[in-house]
Amino acid sequence: MRYRSTRQKEYYVTASQAILQGLSADGGLFVPERLPHLSQETLRELSTKSYLERANAVLSLFLDDFTPAEVAHCVKSAYASGRFDSDNIAELRRVGDAYLLELWHGPTCAFKDMALQLLPYLLTTSMKKVAPDKRVAILVATSGDTGKAALEGFRDVPDTDIIVFYPEDGVSPMQKRQMTTQEGENVAVCAIKGNFDDAQTGVKKIFTDRALESKLAAHGVSFSSANSINWGRLVPQIVYYVSAYCELLDRGEITMGEEMNVAVPTGNFGNILAAYYAKRIGVPIGRLICASNRNDVLTEFIRTGVYNKNRQFYTTISPSMDILISSNLERLLFHLSGEDDETIRNWFASLSETGKYKVSGTVYEKIAEGFYAGSCTDEETQATIHDTFVEQGYLCDTHTAVAVKVYRDYLRETGDTRKTVIASTASPYKFSANVLRAIAQAESEDEFEQLSQLERVSGVPAPRQLSALKEKPVRFSETVEPAEMPQVVLEHLLRS
Ligand SMILES: *Cc1c(COP(=O)(O)O)cnc(C)c1O
Repeated sequence: MRYRSTRQKEYYVTASQAILQGLSADGGLFVPERLPHLSQETLRELSTKSYLERANAVLSLFLDDFTPAEVAHCVKSAYASGRFDSDNIAELRRVGDAYLLELWHGPTCAFKDMALQLLPYLLTTSMKKVAPDKRVAILVATSGDTGKAALEGFRDVPDTDIIVFYPEDGVSPMQKRQMTTQEGENVAVCAIKGNFDDAQTGVKKIFTDRALESKLAAHGVSFSSANSINWGRLVPQIVYYVSAYCELLDRGEITMGEEMNVAVPTGNFGNILAAYYAKRIGVPIGRLICASNRNDVLTEFIRTGVYNKNRQFYTTISPSMDILISSNLERLLFHLSGEDDETIRNWFASLSETGKYKVSGTVYEKIAEGFYAGSCTDEETQATIHDTFVEQGYLCDTHTAVAVKVYRDYLRETGDTRKTVIASTASPYKFSANVLRAIAQAESEDEFEQLSQLERVSGVPAPRQLSALKEKPVRFSETVEPAEMPQVVLEHLLRS
């Protein structure tokens, strides 16, 4: 199966090349040339199998230049390493009239682990095929969750190095601590003086610095990216939607062919796009419910067909969804426009020139048919955490709560009572301060005190990897100007 760019559909690469390259040179994203199919018979077979076996089946459909042994090696290394605190990898819990799909049982307590535990193995396997005997250096600019998940995924993976830049004052104390105490021989973490955009711009400059590139090439090192535009991050996410359906089948909560809806707290549109792909390959999925926080650019788009990023940016209590340009939407539009690369080029040129674009009537109709969208303010997020805890005894984080609230609105508006799976994207303890404030009065300003208080108030134990951070020594305390970032990269990569 070949992959092609959304902006130049005659440009084909293999799955391995797509994963290594990340982004196509024309600025487009890689998508599969045609989508594979999972038959009901296969779904039924998978329903009695483990998460790892389901992952092997789904990944093999998409990564056809990987041998079955290579796929199995990647999957086992990612999910059977003891780094997930649940053998089921993703837990499906019935809460009220919905099912919460807990995707945060990995080492960093956010759903990014589902893909970033696997990506390093997909990447090094691809490397062996495309460019053997090389090292790959991953550069990440992060506003919090991605950086830590990428560090944990790549730590001590042979033939890789990883360097993460974060804005000095732009991440939460817990997120900062998670990164500065990172263990591993091949990792580096550095704060920069500036905001997230400065970090992101600095990383992009390094990616296109030809002098730096040839200096590193002489040492057999090349750069790659771990952010969510990489196909290697999307395909592991398709697995858990397939797995959730199998789980419902296995528990007898759904009959074969009966549709389930999926609700997702959305930022960059990666997670919900994975659910769309699951539907396209044959999982019986009804509506895709796209939930936004106060940065509701996607809600407006899905309701009107107009994407307009010219709006106020809000900092919310669900920071991983604070985003105005949802990159992965481009893949959806490519499919819905009948793979019309010229149209995609025009829309995205318009986005970069004017900050907006309007899709055609046919594309808009397809979106309206498949998707529902809604948004949620911080006050509503906290009220949802409170009510879900009091009424159902379930503690959810600030991102998951956004999806729970939007799903409730959907249910009220449509009366659609099909079984619904809500993606639960982070442990409540990753955002202790705001979760605690939703259910009790905080007794302290200290993040670790708040974590302990949340444990006492809720009776839900905190993941050990978060509470243990308090005792861990800080390994990385460097802060640099953005202009010094290339120097940091060189020093780390050419250390002996
Ligand atoms: C990244 C993230 C999201 C948003 O996911 P997208 O794939 O970017 O839409 C939601 N919740 C949490 C906790 C995240 O870390």
